[in-house]
Amino acid sequence: MITKAAVLVSASVTAASSSSSKSLINPSHRYLCLERLSFVNSLSVSALAIKWRSVSNCSPNKFSRIMKTRASTQPLKNADELIASVETFIFDCDGVIWKGDKLIDGVPETLDMLRSKGKRLVFVTNNSTKSRKQYGKKFETLGLNVNEEEIFASSFAAAAYLKSINFPKDKKVYVIGEDGILKELELAGFQYLGGPDDGGKKIELKPGFLMEHDKDVGAVVVGFDRYFNYYKVQYGTLCIRENPGCLFIATNRDAVTHLTDAQEWAGGGSMVGAICGSTQREPLIVGKPSTFMMDYLANKFGILKSQICMVGDRLDTDILFGQNGGCKTLLVLSGVTTLSMLQSPSNSIQPDFYSNKISDFLSLKAATV
Ligand SMILES: [Mg+2]
Repeated sequence: MITKAAVLVSASVTAASSSSSKSLINPSHRYLCLERLSFVNSLSVSALAIKWRSVSNCSPNKFSRIMKTRASTQPLKNADELIASVETFIFDCDGVIWKGDKLIDGVPETLDMLRSKGKRLVFVTNNSTKSRKQYGKKFETLGLNVNEEEIFASSFAAAAYLKSINFPKDKKVYVIGEDGILKELELAGFQYLGGPDDGGKKIELKPGFLMEHDKDVGAVVVGFDRYFNYYKVQYGTLCIRENPGCLFIATNRDAVTHLTDAQEWAGGGSMVGAICGSTQREPLIVGKPSTFMMDYLANKFGILKSQICMVGDRLDTDILFGQNGGCKTLLVLSGVTTLSMLQSPSNSIQPDFYSNKISDFLSLKAATV
């Protein structure tokens, strides 16, 4: 029978011989893992073994994330302390700033307070259906004073990524997605086709029918698309499979989205999944939780990632995004994640803190004065 001691001894041996292994963490880190794993008297043998397997071959960021799973996230008690330790707050939008078209209580006052303390505010969303300019209008409509330059949507990230790799201007981008992606590509000076124009197209499968595609397409960008259809799947697939070097870029892989507040709806991940299925390729993801946008922001504003706090309502995108980037993380319960989901044994993503909503910054602040 395997005991906890046996697992730990086995792990010790692995750690002692790890200098010859290809582990991304060095032996001293692994001893530290062991030392920290030994806190887990309360874990079952199998849980311990799984933990060790996870820890023994991971990057420092992933290691840090795994180790955080051992303890439950603490509720935010001292907002002043967090605010003082952070130079930049990155906010997710839906579920943090607004819900659908409704502003969440206390948001304007909270943003004003943070600005008055000299904090940089950045708004990041995986929703690619709007451009930065279109999001700017949404903020304005909701009475929020937010500059376009402070908004980073995954539509913008797709165009920024293509710019960052000097995507040739004589090549084209095929878009499976909505208007936001087209607008950002246009602003960045890229040629594109597809998008809403292909929303009504149908394929007539007559005998011998062959769909032509543009051989100059050098990238296919896939985002959330309410007008997704078989024409787009086939066109994107042909470009990726037949145009040499054609890139496959996804704005995000969110499983679900919130088109109405009555239920969850299939998210951008469903469109991306279809193209993965037909091409047998994995996309390059530019939205959360990939660190592309975090790296972009850190470079653009010259900020240290340790001085950033990522605030979001979703564990597998927002909190993972913050943790992947080495930032502090705050989960708010004003969106899709409930306290019981956060505390569920099946959840392995634990933020540094959680709070009901961002305006708790104000009340928690008042309580500590
Ligand atoms: Mg959200």
